Amino acid sequence: MRLDVVTIFPEYLEPLNVSLVGKARARGQLDVHVHDLREWAYDRHNTVDDTPYGGGPGMVMKTGPWGDALDSALADGYERGVGSPALIVPTPSGRPFTQELAVELSERPWLIFTPARYEGIDRRVIDEYATRMPVYEVSIGDYVLAGGEAAVLVVTEAVARLLPGVLGNAESHRDDSFAPGAMANLLEGPVYTKPPLWRGRDIPEVLLSGHHGKIARWRRDEALTRTAAHRPDLIERCAPEAFDKKDREM
Ligand code: SAM
Repeated sequence: MRLDVVTIFPEYLEPLNVSLVGKARARGQLDVHVHDLREWAYDRHNTVDDTPYGGGPGMVMKTGPWGDALDSALADGYERGVGSPALIVPTPSGRPFTQELAVELSERPWLIFTPARYEGIDRRVIDEYATRMPVYEVSIGDYVLAGGEAAVLVVTEAVARLLPGVLGNAESHRDDSFAPGAMANLLEGPVYTKPPLWRGRDIPEVLLSGHHGKIARWRRDEALTRTAAHRPDLIERCAPEAFDKKDREM
């Protein structure tokens, strides 16, 4: 998968060299290109923002630098035959970023991110590229960040771990919170490892039983309990047939 990020803070994307995403890059599973938007500014001050039409506080990012930067990234990707791109626009006014959307994005060959600063990007930029490719306006939560770079890191990490071969054990995201299938609207319950006793605290006996059926049942019950406590809205979203007889007895 190819990722392009256009930003006025390229150094903010340094974490893309670390851990799971960094390893995926080193293995050639992710091809990441970070571009400095100011390289496409026209004046000697490298200006990328201007006052908003209609007045009001704050500044708006200008069309020109964004258009030229995106065209340049697109030309390079097309020349290398990457496939069809999708534009990912981080914004608090976007659709919520979910595991379901992470799965959808992980199936695309090429994502181009436009993390903004100030009051955001002149709307015409997004409308222009929406005529050429799918545009996903995504919010990582109901709060306002100073810029979209942290959102790019969040989306990239969630997507990268779903790419084939990126996680050591391909099964390991199957039981995650929100994983498509049995966990689609559930949060994962608690997990434990050795030693069996720590500061007087032991682990649930069933986990030592070796009985796969009972362990699966316990995990399901814990997931349901945790979801009901922390995210009752998710339980309400489950279709009635998603619950088995034992779930209903809880
Ligand atoms: N005036 C904008 C609004 O109220 O919708 C907020 C602009 S914010 C200060 C600057 C940039 O940070 C946004 O354009 C976006 O790129 C990013 N950003 C802020 N909060 C975000 C969120 N919850 N999810 C994704 N991106 C966000």
